[in-house]
Amino acid sequence: MNKNTRLITIAVDGYSSSGKSTMARRLAAAVGYRYIDSGAMYRAVTLYALDNGLISTDGEPDKAAIVSALPEISIDFAVQPDGTQHTLLNGVDVETEIRRLRVSNAVSPVAAIAEVRRALVAMQKKMGERKGIVMDGRDIGTVVFPDAELKIFVDASPETRAMRRFKELVEKGSQVSYEDVLSNVVHRDHIDTTRDESPLRRAEDAISLDNSLMSLEEQDAWLLKQFNKVLQFG
Ligand code: C5P
Repeated sequence: MNKNTRLITIAVDGYSSSGKSTMARRLAAAVGYRYIDSGAMYRAVTLYALDNGLISTDGEPDKAAIVSALPEISIDFAVQPDGTQHTLLNGVDVETEIRRLRVSNAVSPVAAIAEVRRALVAMQKKMGERKGIVMDGRDIGTVVFPDAELKIFVDASPETRAMRRFKELVEKGSQVSYEDVLSNVVHRDHIDTTRDESPLRRAEDAISLDNSLMSLEEQDAWLLKQFNKVLQFG
């Protein structure tokens, strides 16, 4: 990347398993930016809550206990030799754990807690202070970086998203059914779009992308085009 090029902030939002993390990661690598998966941060808090008995067996989070545990939770990202990032929860690599269905099933109610959002949004804003960042999530273009120069909102049908997630989990050796994954996707969509605190919605100035029928290469090319347009005209 040309050192004199202006650095911008890129927000990628969208529904669960819309492929936004893959998209954001690849765009960051292509343009030499830092990539942050904000969903991993909500997942890490959820894993902490699960492991410390702060979520009941029927999935109800103990809000007060989770909020008072927040100062004890530190989240970092460690870049691996192959360039991928692993999430660290209190210094421990939890990248595999946070992707399991037990965390996926519990995360949305935890992410709906106002104080949890406030704490994580503050961390995310700090990570983006120097720009040159691609962050993906649900509220990046609306709340975390409302002034981001490039905002992308990713959509695809629930069935397409569930099939992608199902294949990913099976490849990683998880014994899950497609029906369970689909019901998790639909359930998370519902909680994410109807919660009071920063519900998932498209920022008015976001560019929409339905990637259901796009190959990764087509998607990369489309993203790079949007990025270059902003640098040229934005
Ligand atoms: O992106 P991912 O599916 O890993 O995110 C896990 C969950 O974290 C989402 O279902 C959503 O409930 C929550 N989340 C959020 N705000 C973000 C990122 C994720 O509420 N910025």
